[in-house]
Amino acid sequence: MQYVFGPVRSGRLGASLGLDLLGARICTFDCLYCEAGVTEALTTVRKPYVSARRILVELAAWKAAGHAMPDVVTLGGLGEPCLNTELGDIIAATKELFPDIPVAVLTNSSLLPDPDVRGALSAADMVLPSMDTLVAAEYQLLNRPHAAIGLDAIRQGLLDFRASYGGSIFLEVLLLAGINDSAANLDLLQGFCRELRPERVDVVTMSRPGAHRGAAAVSRETLARFRDALGGREQPADAADGGDGHGPAALVSRQTQELAARIAASVARRPQTEAQLAAGLDVPVEPVRQALAALLRANAIRQERAGDDFFYSG
Ligand code: SF4
Repeated sequence: MQYVFGPVRSGRLGASLGLDLLGARICTFDCLYCEAGVTEALTTVRKPYVSARRILVELAAWKAAGHAMPDVVTLGGLGEPCLNTELGDIIAATKELFPDIPVAVLTNSSLLPDPDVRGALSAADMVLPSMDTLVAAEYQLLNRPHAAIGLDAIRQGLLDFRASYGGSIFLEVLLLAGINDSAANLDLLQGFCRELRPERVDVVTMSRPGAHRGAAAVSRETLARFRDALGGREQPADAADGGDGHGPAALVSRQTQELAARIAASVARRPQTEAQLAAGLDVPVEPVRQALAALLRANAIRQERAGDDFFYSG
């Protein structure tokens, strides 16, 4: 399976079967805290990065294999899933395949100003948008957006979506120390939540290494202060202080961690290339690449060149 992963247990959603709508690190943001690594293609161009057909063939095969049913099917990926123009088709076909299971979409909210995106999302049972800060300077520092995406437009896009959407909105706010934990942001977010009226607010912080240096978690006290002010709920015990991290990449990230543990154990026994690991562990190359990148960032493995190949060792 290349685009269907899990189910992984998510503090926010329960047992979540994930769909990756991008297949690579393609996003409208390059967040400091991204658990999937640095954004490789920073873009606002919408297209079928992975076709609905490819995803649905895998999803049908997963269902036919007779696995235990998940609590939710979650559309996300290694970047912003709303960049995929076949989003609406994927939601509709997923609901046909799993008529008794809710469909959720994780999004960084950046494309909500686009009426086509709002229309496609309207068929989902739950949408989990992020809004980390309403302070323009913090937004630039934290989310590192594509130049075409303005904060005011995102704010208005979310409100427009709320006005027409009949499902549930679970807003996520991810806080980093010294970046968006300011009183000014709290004040603006408070006013925004009153207008948006989300069904739920999840205030979280980083619990795993992010893509860029300089990103640090906030304290429990700060989390509690923001939660109280925004009407945020307590995180479930299995979510710890960090919750799930940010939406689109977080579920893929959870799977990457599991794969990273298997890779670390394997290369501790003998050095191997990316292709050898993929073959040996019987997984596609792209998730292996993601897991290797995470292990290298954490200094958990070494990379050495031998001829044209890179070998990884413990
Ligand atoms: S955290 Fe989400 S929005 Fe930010 S770069 Fe990663 S995938 Fe994109």
